[in-house]
Amino acid sequence: MRTKTAHTPTTTTERKRAMTKRLPPDPENQNDERAEWAASALRDFQRNTRTDDEDALSDLLCDLMHWSDRNNCDFGAELSRARLHYEAETAAPVENDFDMLCPRCGASDQIDVAATVFVRLCRDGTDDTQAHSGDHTWDDNSPALCCACDYAGTVRAFCRTESSDEKPVLLAAAELVIERWSNGDLADAVRQLDAAIAEAKGGAK
Ligand SMILES: [Zn+2]
Repeated sequence: MRTKTAHTPTTTTERKRAMTKRLPPDPENQNDERAEWAASALRDFQRNTRTDDEDALSDLLCDLMHWSDRNNCDFGAELSRARLHYEAETAAPVENDFDMLCPRCGASDQIDVAATVFVRLCRDGTDDTQAHSGDHTWDDNSPALCCACDYAGTVRAFCRTESSDEKPVLLAAAELVIERWSNGDLADAVRQLDAAIAEAKGGAK
């Protein structure tokens, strides 16, 4: 049950949290402003309900669930959409020359690609420095592996292009459903897939 105490909202808790937690990447340099919009909503909520700092966020979320019940809104689906937006807004900059990143964890500095290389056959094995051609080639169908999370797919799944930003997200969401299927823990994964499909179709942000 909630306790309501006469309490003047302050940003002390926010400051404490901000100081102890390392912030994720901020590629659009807008996350401070976004956090301040949220802080403003929380302050209003605390003013109206006199909820203390510790309970304010969970109480507001809980009340938004009640609001959703009464306004024909699927809170779980909206939460999944919010998570997708958050992931996009905290995505690390791409740290390779090929604009590739892991569709599951977003890492871009630990991707291995199975490339074709020429090697010179020697008495004691092979030598890639002796080969006539020093080129290495791969294409969209070549196997790729994220060494950060062990996600394995093709190069295509790792490619992040202007026209197919939603594709890796969709793929990752679909694969999450398959992964959860065996655990019988599907509900959240399906919601994420639903949100990813809505995003891909051009859902309002
Ligand atoms: Zn990964």
